[in-house]
Amino acid sequence: MTRIVIDGHCDVLYKLFENRALDFYGTSLSGLDVTYERMCRSNIKVQFFAIYLPERITVPHFDYYLEYISIFNRKVASDGRIRPIKNRGDLEAVMNGKQRGALLTLEGADALHGNPLYLRTLYELGVRMIGTTWNYANWAADGILEPRQAGFSRKGKTFIKECDELGILMDASHLSVAAFWDLADTARLPFVASHSNAKAICGHPRNLDDSQIREIIRRDGRIGITFVPWFVKSQGGATIDDLLKHIDYICALGGERQVAFGSDFDGIDRWIPQLEHAGQFPRLVEALAKRYSDEQVNRFLYANWHSLLQAYLPVH
Ligand SMILES: [Zn+2]
Repeated sequence: MTRIVIDGHCDVLYKLFENRALDFYGTSLSGLDVTYERMCRSNIKVQFFAIYLPERITVPHFDYYLEYISIFNRKVASDGRIRPIKNRGDLEAVMNGKQRGALLTLEGADALHGNPLYLRTLYELGVRMIGTTWNYANWAADGILEPRQAGFSRKGKTFIKECDELGILMDASHLSVAAFWDLADTARLPFVASHSNAKAICGHPRNLDDSQIREIIRRDGRIGITFVPWFVKSQGGATIDDLLKHIDYICALGGERQVAFGSDFDGIDRWIPQLEHAGQFPRLVEALAKRYSDEQVNRFLYANWHSLLQAYLPVH
């Protein structure tokens, strides 16, 4: 039996936004890591799709988010094969039926400009998770590569509370360390790091240190282990076995129920061998099955994401 997979991060929409000729339902030569056909091959039941404005956009207008959602509706969720997941009913229908699911997330809240009406509009259009920054600073917070390394602004802290009230989950991947702890202090809901690994195993700034991992575990958030080779192994030559070291490490800190995956497919231009696109999850499953019990493998592959969504997605 093919295992179920839930993947917590991909940048398909970014590629579709930049290149209108790409086809999510096309062949594997389509220039996308994640395609519908590959989701089927790996039995990816739910794929998170990030809205991420490319760096070339220096004046971020809210309209760009609407354009992304329009692309998502026309090119991904166009004919019922992929169902947008906005509530628990959508999630359960997807898990128990033939459809696959897509959860919209936002990576970089730059174009919200602290406007609660914009935030509510995104919520109404289906956005259920938000990473406040990409790598740099915006009106709300500093990202992990911003030299200033500040936390959340006053407006940014208000924004966290507004997300809490709407039931939007916050994503700490890309946040500065100070912003991570501001989020921890301010948020009421558990939060996640949708695509970050363990810093103790690979010392990249995008990875989480032990205290951050412990905090996410303590609050029952989720950590999406990511396939970005340079977040897996600093010296290069990352393999699937190296990826598993991050899982081992987080489990050793007590995170067996919090570890999940966030591939970052279509957001990377180098790949771990044999984990080069969304159709190759079976290779990862094979490696996991040698090391972990059936129940653990299922937790990492889908059940940990599933239980979080089941608990925090709106009922209707
Ligand atoms: Zn990212």
